[in-house]
Amino acid sequence: MEKQIFKTETHLHCGETSGCSLVTGDEFVRRYKEEGFSTIFVSDHYNRKWFRDCETREEYDIAVEKQLRGYRTAKAEGDRIGLTVLLSCELNIDGNDYLFYGIDESFFYDKSIGEMTPHQLFDYCNERGYTLIAAHPYREDRQPVPEAVHGIEIVNGGHNHYYHNNNDKALALAAILPNHLRTSGSDAHFVEDIAHGGIISEEPVNSADDYIRILRSGKYDIIDIPTAKEDINYY
Ligand SMILES: [Zn+2]
Ligand SMILES: [Zn+2]
Repeated sequence: MEKQIFKTETHLHCGETSGCSLVTGDEFVRRYKEEGFSTIFVSDHYNRKWFRDCETREEYDIAVEKQLRGYRTAKAEGDRIGLTVLLSCELNIDGNDYLFYGIDESFFYDKSIGEMTPHQLFDYCNERGYTLIAAHPYREDRQPVPEAVHGIEIVNGGHNHYYHNNNDKALALAAILPNHLRTSGSDAHFVEDIAHGGIISEEPVNSADDYIRILRSGKYDIIDIPTAKEDINYY
C-alpha cells in the first residue's frame, strides 16, 4: 500500500489583511485543497499602525479583527471543505521578516511585539514557546540575524521574488547552523505562487506543535517549485 503523504503550506498572505496580496483566504483554501494540501498556515503581515495606539481591550479587538480577517475567512472555508488552517504571522524588523509559529489570537493583544529588537523578540518567543523562522533571509541585500531565530526558510517560492530571494544563500546559512530548523514556504500573494513551497510529511500537521516536531525530526521533504522567468509578473 502506498504511504499517505501530507502537504503543508507554511507561508501565505490573504488579501483581506495583507494589502500586497491579491488572493482572499477562502480562495486560497479552495486552491490549496485542489493542489492536494491538507494544511496551510496564514501568515499575514503584522500591521504596526493598527496596534500602535491600542490601550483598551475594545481598541485591541478592533485591530485584531482587521489583522485576523484573512485568517478567519480562510479558517471558515477550511472548516467547511476540510482543510486545516493554522495561524502564523510575519513581522518586519529593520528590513528582515520573521515568521511566528505556535501563536494564538492572544499574541496580537500585546503591541510590544512590534517594538522589540530581534534579540528581545527571540527571548520573548522563548519565554512563550513560539517558534521564530527567518523568512527569505537573503532576499535582495538583507542581512539576517541567525542567532535570534529558531529556523531558516531555505526555500521561499514567491514567484515575483524567486530570482532575488537567494535561496541558495539561505541553504548555505542553514548548512552551518545544524541546530536550526529548515523549512520552505510559498509566501503566496498571487495565484501564481500557490504550492511553490511548503513541506511534505508522512504525518499530518494538525497544529503548530506538529509542524515544529516534524521539522525537528527531519522526516519531511521540502517543496521547491521554481518559477520560469517568463512567468514572473511584477505587479
Ligand atoms: Zn506581502
Ligand atoms: Zn511573507
